[in-house]
Amino acid sequence: MTCEKAMELLVGARDARSLPLLAKLHLRRCASCGREARRLDMAMASLRDLLPPAPDLSEAVMTAIRGDPLHLSETVSWGKWIGVGFLIMLSIAVAPFGSDFGWLSSLMGDSFRLPFALTLGLAMTVYCSLFIASHLDELTERFKLGRR
Ligand SMILES: [Zn+2]
Repeated sequence: MTCEKAMELLVGARDARSLPLLAKLHLRRCASCGREARRLDMAMASLRDLLPPAPDLSEAVMTAIRGDPLHLSETVSWGKWIGVGFLIMLSIAVAPFGSDFGWLSSLMGDSFRLPFALTLGLAMTVYCSLFIASHLDELTERFKLGRR
């Protein structure tokens, strides 16, 4: 193993103990690499002393992911959710009668209608998914879908 390769492995490793066997042997045999490894260990040790350990946020993150991360059920009322949903549905129903739709349709032909309908359908699907996901507990209770 070359000195360059051993240093590359050492810098990439957590510490000298987790190195592959050939790299460990090289560090024992090569004076300059061994010295560099000891200096790196000392630098890492002093950094560990200076910096406080990182707090374990995994439980808080998982709780937030499992729950309602955007707190949509708390910040947006049922009336607003349903009102915006009806507005989206109304715009889907009314859009084909608008002058812009006629202009785009004449410009692009009938091939325009399918992507338009798919886009609005996707928007409605995403909106409904957000509504259901953020109100899962309330919907389960309202429609009596809980476990028995
Ligand atoms: Zn070396």
